[in-house]
Amino acid sequence: MVIHTKNRLVEELEIDFYKELQNDYEEIVSWRRHLHQHPELSFEESETPKFIAEKLRSFGIDVREQVGGNGVIGIIEGVKPGKTIAFRADFDALPIQDEKSVSYKSTIDGVMHACGHDGHTSSLLGVAKVLSSHRKLLNGNIIFIFQHAEEKPPGGAKLMIEDGALENVDVIFGGHLTTDIPIGKIATRQGPMMASVDKFKVTLQGKGGHGARPHETIDAITIGSELVSHLQQIVSRRINPVEPAVVTIGSFHAGNAFNIIANTAELEGTVRTMNSKVRKQIEAEIRAILEGIKKADHVDYTLDYENGYPVLINHKEEATLIEKIVKENISPDSFLEKQIVLGAEDYAYYLEHKPGAYFNVGARNDQPETQFPPHHPRFDFDEKALLGLGNVFLELAAHYLTSK
Ligand code: MN
Repeated sequence: MVIHTKNRLVEELEIDFYKELQNDYEEIVSWRRHLHQHPELSFEESETPKFIAEKLRSFGIDVREQVGGNGVIGIIEGVKPGKTIAFRADFDALPIQDEKSVSYKSTIDGVMHACGHDGHTSSLLGVAKVLSSHRKLLNGNIIFIFQHAEEKPPGGAKLMIEDGALENVDVIFGGHLTTDIPIGKIATRQGPMMASVDKFKVTLQGKGGHGARPHETIDAITIGSELVSHLQQIVSRRINPVEPAVVTIGSFHAGNAFNIIANTAELEGTVRTMNSKVRKQIEAEIRAILEGIKKADHVDYTLDYENGYPVLINHKEEATLIEKIVKENISPDSFLEKQIVLGAEDYAYYLEHKPGAYFNVGARNDQPETQFPPHHPRFDFDEKALLGLGNVFLELAAHYLTSK
């Protein structure tokens, strides 16, 4: 990785933000490992926000705690007026048993940082430390959003926004480490980048009875099976094939004996799309199919349909800026055009309110330990990626707050 800050003003003053971050590398790694050993589940974070607030204060940064729940905000006010930019890192962990054999593995049974949020947080703390010592240089302000509960709807982002996290913010950026791409690479794209995610549960109320007397029953299993195949026709036959979309039924429970016709069936599923119109269309189709089945099969139903995170849509100008900064200031071959994935991120909410973009940072090297996908019990990453993530933030800060 050849990485340098090329911001002119900073260069004239012979200040190299990235070099300063590199000097703190071992400290940043120690923070990451501390967080990795002490993971906390979404909405149950208590020690992690304290840790973050304490570090920020030790850098002389003003802190607001318990934002929207367990969120923490750090604020650096520059000496001169200018824009207010926000950087976001999430810090919750997952209900997964850590199966790695490393010195810094999770000390909490059944809880693990298996999505790299420990890395996002420690890297952004490193960025905050570097920038806090250069207030005099900054035309404008930086808001550091340390967000709880990314992994669990309704998500910390929504709650932090409702509690004023984006007040006075002009533009926001966030990054995610990923083992999908090699270390040294930075990826983003304009427009939709990650999917909306909805969750639904259907309960079919039939009429149970003797397996030998089907004509006296309303068979919840037969009707449930018909429902599953009908739902699969939404994507294959109702949605424009150029639009990515998923309807998955992940659970189907009915019946408990070979000779009894099931009284009820319970089905749960998820809907993923890259377009809010398609998202609404699928929900409407699900409702229409259920109404049709109700009439045709004499069955009653209840539908519990929950909207999760929206489509994550990068704003054009800010996504282009990341591409430009990576190619010109970091390295021409570091940039990758991000391929869309149907995973979801509550960072999407920030982009519904403010211009900004989300990007991915390569965190895989050629060792087997870094080849696991996120949410895997052996997920780990090359810690040099903490510098890669931090460098993009530092370049963005230099771009917005030190030019002219
Ligand atoms: Mn994540």
